Parts: sequence; structure tokens; C-alpha cells
Amino acid sequence: MTNISGASSGSSTTRRGRVVGVPMVCWCGAEIVGKISKSDPNPYRRYFRCAFAVSNKLMDDNHVFKWVDEALLNEVDRLSSQAKRLEQMVRESEIVFDGAEYEKMVFDKVLMKVEEEVFRKVESVVSESQRYMKKLMIVGIVVCMIVVGLGNFI
Ligand SMILES: [Zn+2]
Repeated sequence: MTNISGASSGSSTTRRGRVVGVPMVCWCGAEIVGKISKSDPNPYRRYFRCAFAVSNKLMDDNHVFKWVDEALLNEVDRLSSQAKRLEQMVRESEIVFDGAEYEKMVFDKVLMKVEEEVFRKVESVVSESQRYMKKLMIVGIVVCMIVVGLGNFI
């Protein structure tokens, strides 16, 4: 009788691989247990195995079997790709932030222009009214002079 873990010395992921990284539970619901291979091609190589398959001494079944070193390599790959994704996310959020900054800059410029426009308009209105007031004053003075002049005539 050959040990189950001796069946393949190569990649277990291609043969039974539905699991990426360290398996937590078998599809059958059983726990995953850590075992040590006693087979000739893989002596003392650690592997993860479905507890149900272990207790029933199943062989060539579909229950979880995975070499620990491969699982850990998978895990490292997964983590490094996750780190890459996070890095990407950070970079993208920086771009978004830059965009917001740019928008704010444009908005400030527009606001400044609007303020300038309003200021100029207010100024022109004020100077218009000042000119109008001056005219009024001149008219008033003239009227006064006329009235005074007329009064002198009477
Ligand atoms: Zn199982």
C-alpha cells in the first residue's frame, strides 16, 4: 500500500487544485489537518489534508490535498499580488486627489475672475452714480444760483 502523498511529487495544484493558498476547510465540510508525508518520493514533506479523507484513509479522491510548501508559496504570491493591488489603489487615489486639487485650483481661478468682474462692475456702477451725484450737485447749485439770482431781481 502506497501513501497518498507519495502519488505525486510535483504540483498538487494541477491535479487536485481548487484551493489557492492555505486551505482552511475541505469542500466536504471537514477540517484540514496538517500531515507529514512518509512516502519515498516526499519523505517528511508536510501536507494539508481533509480530515475526513485522513480518517477514512481515502486515496485518489477529490478531498483537499496540498503540500504545505506549495500552499505557502501560493500564499506569498497571493499576498504579494494583494500588496501590488493595494499599491495600485493608493496610486489611483493619489491621481484622484491630484484631480481634486486641480479642480479646486480651476475653481479658485474662476472665482477670482468672477470676483474681479463683480468688483469692476461695482466700481463702474459706483463711479457712474458718483458722476450722477456730481451732476445733481451741479444742477442743484445752478438751481440755487438761479433762485438766488431771481430773488435778487425781485
Ligand atoms: Zn474532504
